[in-house]
Amino acid sequence: MAGRKNRTRKPVALLFLKSLMGIILLLGSSCFAANIESVRVWRAPDHTRLVFDLSASVVDHKVFPLKAPARIVVDIADSSINANDVDELDLSNTPIKQIRSGKRNSKDLRVVLDLNATVKPRSFVLVKHGGKPDRLVIDLYDSNIETVKTVQQVVKAETGKRDIIVAIDAGHGGEDPGALGPKKIREKDVVYKISKQLASMVNAEKGYKAHMVRTGDYYIPLDTRRNKAREVRADIFISIHADAFKNPKAKGASVFALSRRGATSETARFLASKENEADLIGGVGGVDLGNVDDMLAGVLVDLSMTASLANSLDVGEKVLGQIGKVTLLHKNQVEQAGFVVLKSPDVPSILVETGFISNPEEARKLNTYDHRKKLANAIFTGVKRYFNETPPAGSYVAWKKYGDNLERQMEHVISRGETLTAIATRYKVSVARIKAANDLNDSTIKIGQILKIPAS
Ligand SMILES: [Zn+2]
Repeated sequence: MAGRKNRTRKPVALLFLKSLMGIILLLGSSCFAANIESVRVWRAPDHTRLVFDLSASVVDHKVFPLKAPARIVVDIADSSINANDVDELDLSNTPIKQIRSGKRNSKDLRVVLDLNATVKPRSFVLVKHGGKPDRLVIDLYDSNIETVKTVQQVVKAETGKRDIIVAIDAGHGGEDPGALGPKKIREKDVVYKISKQLASMVNAEKGYKAHMVRTGDYYIPLDTRRNKAREVRADIFISIHADAFKNPKAKGASVFALSRRGATSETARFLASKENEADLIGGVGGVDLGNVDDMLAGVLVDLSMTASLANSLDVGEKVLGQIGKVTLLHKNQVEQAGFVVLKSPDVPSILVETGFISNPEEARKLNTYDHRKKLANAIFTGVKRYFNETPPAGSYVAWKKYGDNLERQMEHVISRGETLTAIATRYKVSVARIKAANDLNDSTIKIGQILKIPAS
């Protein structure tokens, strides 16, 4: 009641205040070319990513380190930041001790990152895409990164009854939430949970070892995901997703393999193009010069790509068959489209869409522990069937199947769709050696034919 009475006295003051704010706002927008609207921080195993959301596109900026005490300075021309946004950041587990900001020559912004460890900074601008504003990304690479196991070391560990390495790639992460479902369910969280579930099942099985490509909530570029699987000499690469479709009625799980010639369906094409956009949303700066497969001779890539593709389709079919037992399928066959993340010339790679997060019923199920566990179990059962049929030479699974009978271990029964190149890739021996071991004059092989596989 008192409030109502007071109203009669307020208008003048209010009007004055409003117009004053208007003037301030007007001044604000004419002074600052780019406001930093919000700030986020993502911690990856080897770097820390700071992301500034910008109100305008091109940003003139400079990033440089200073010593004693160690700090990184970020100068952004003609810009401003809300200090509260910075204060609210969770900097635990990052090399950043605190973030300060201030004005330089009345309009430029200086942000100082006080460090408790030395880092190598790298920055780039991401243009507005897929609902994300223009962003300034600052990556701080840890300087004391543990060296990754070299191929040489891994090879040594491979002799005897080695584990089959299953690389599990939880899609999206960090800046890239993936598809969004009802009740704020995010694809990146759902698929991470399924992936962890799958990894624990894989690790609990003798003869298998899981390698999680993404180990937290941060973004990994698509080609880096493939390369991470190859670095650990993965026997298979499984990318896990739960995408959205234009039509919320779209439902069912699907399994995809790479296509070199275009997509097998409209949905496959749509999903592949959406997935391939992830780098624009998640953030990739600069060109990776270590991208070996782009530099390989076209023919070589073609050959081995065809090889891993036949194996990808094989394992894809087995996984799809198992998933069909626990959830509705979108299509009854493995679909193919040009997914960048599957473009590994030597590792059989599949992408599992565990369901459409845009479908309310499927989103609800994907949000339950039971359903995620069923999906993970189905994927692993399919994978095990694939490896039980033709276990990689030298693996525990091969030893379990054939015992010490090396002669038998080195036999391969040809199934539909297989080629000599595919078989050679799978056993890591050359086509020429397989031909020589079997007195083959050309590459013609028949379904059911038994090939002797020379030791790799
Ligand atoms: Zn996805």
